[in-house]
Amino acid sequence: MQEKIILTGDRPTGRLHLGHYVGTLKKRVELQDDPRYKRFVFIADLQALTDNARNPQIVRENVVEVALDYLAAGLVPEKTTLFVQSQIPELAELTMYYLNLVTVERLQRNPTVKAEIKQKKEMSGEAGVPAGFLTYPVSQAADITAFDADLVPVGEDQVPVLEQTREIVRTFNGLYGEVLKEPAAMLPDRKACCRLPGVDGAAKMSKSLGNAIYLADDEAAVSQKIMQVYTDPLHIKVTDPGHLKGNVMFVYLDAFCRNEHFPAFLPDYKNLDELKDHYKRGGLGDVKVKRFLNNILQAELSPVRERRKYYEARKDEVYRILYEGSQKARAAAAAVLDRVRKAIGVNYF
Ligand code: ATP
Ligand code: MG
Repeated sequence: MQEKIILTGDRPTGRLHLGHYVGTLKKRVELQDDPRYKRFVFIADLQALTDNARNPQIVRENVVEVALDYLAAGLVPEKTTLFVQSQIPELAELTMYYLNLVTVERLQRNPTVKAEIKQKKEMSGEAGVPAGFLTYPVSQAADITAFDADLVPVGEDQVPVLEQTREIVRTFNGLYGEVLKEPAAMLPDRKACCRLPGVDGAAKMSKSLGNAIYLADDEAAVSQKIMQVYTDPLHIKVTDPGHLKGNVMFVYLDAFCRNEHFPAFLPDYKNLDELKDHYKRGGLGDVKVKRFLNNILQAELSPVRERRKYYEARKDEVYRILYEGSQKARAAAAAVLDRVRKAIGVNYF
C-alpha cells in the first residue's frame, strides 16, 4: 500500500496556543508513529507576511518560536519533516499558476477570508486589504498540492480554505490532465477542539486576538488565565443553577478532560456528565471547576514546557532542523513542479 501524505502548517504570527494544540498539533503528534503516513509540517512565513509586510521582524522572530512549539508539542524531526515555507521557491511559482484558476469574486466570497478581513479592519482601522492576503488561500493550495498531500489536519476555520484548494485542483486537472491530488481536511475527533474559544468567551482562541493560553505560558500564567476564564455570568452564587452554553470553562473540559482525570483530581465525581449535571442543578462553584481544569491543563502542559526549555537552550539545533527539513521538502516540491510545468507546457528546454 502506498503511504498517504499528511501536511499542515501554521502562521508565525505569534506563539502557538491551546487552540492549535487541540485543533491540529495533537493529531499531528498522534499520527507520527503511524507507518501508513509520510508527514510534513511547515511554518507559513510567506502567509504571515501577507498581513505583516510592514512588520517583518514579527514574522522572523516567530519562526523560531513556532518551531520551538512544534518540538515542545512532541513533533520529532526524524518522523516529521519540519520546514519553512519561504525556503521553497517552488511554492511561489505554483501560486502564480494557480492565481489564474480562481476568480477575484470567488476569493472575496471565501467565508474565512471574509471574516478575517472584517476582524482586521475592526482592529487596525485600515481600509485596504493587501492583495496577498486576499489570495492566501491560493498560496495555501500551492503549499498543499506541491507535496501531493492527501490529508490536512486543521481546525474548523480552515475548512472553507481547503475547499478552495480542492476546487483549484479540479480546475487544474480538468484543464491539464490528472496531475494534482485532491486533499481532504482532517478535523479533530472532539467537537470542542474544532474551534476552541478564547478565554474571554470569543468564538476562537487566536494569536491575533490576545485571548489565548500559550503552550509556552508558565504554570502561574496558565492558572491565572484559567481563574479568569469566561463562564456563566448568571451563575453568581454557588447555589444558582449554572448554564453550559457559551461557558468556556466547560468547553475546555470537553476538549481536555478524560475519565482518568476524576480519580486523580476530583474523586467526588465519576465523569464529566456528573459534573455538568451538578453545575446545572446549582450547588457547584466555578472555583472548584476551574481548579480541576487547571490541574488537567498543568498535567498536559508540563511535559510540553520541559521539552520547550530543552530546545530553547539549543536554538542552533532548532535552526538546523528547519534547514535540513527545508532541503528535504524542496526536493519533494521540485518533483511535483516538474509535473506541473510539463502539464501546462512551460517546459521549453
Ligand atoms: P492568526 O490569527 O495569525 O491567523 P491563528 O491563531 O488563527 O493565527 P493559524 O496559524 O492561522 O493560527 O492556524 C494554524 C492552525 O491552527 C489551523 O489549522 C487552524 O485551523 C488551527 N487553529 C487556530 N486556532 C484554532 C482554534 N481556536 N481552535 C482550533 N484550531 C485552531
Ligand atoms: Mg488563522
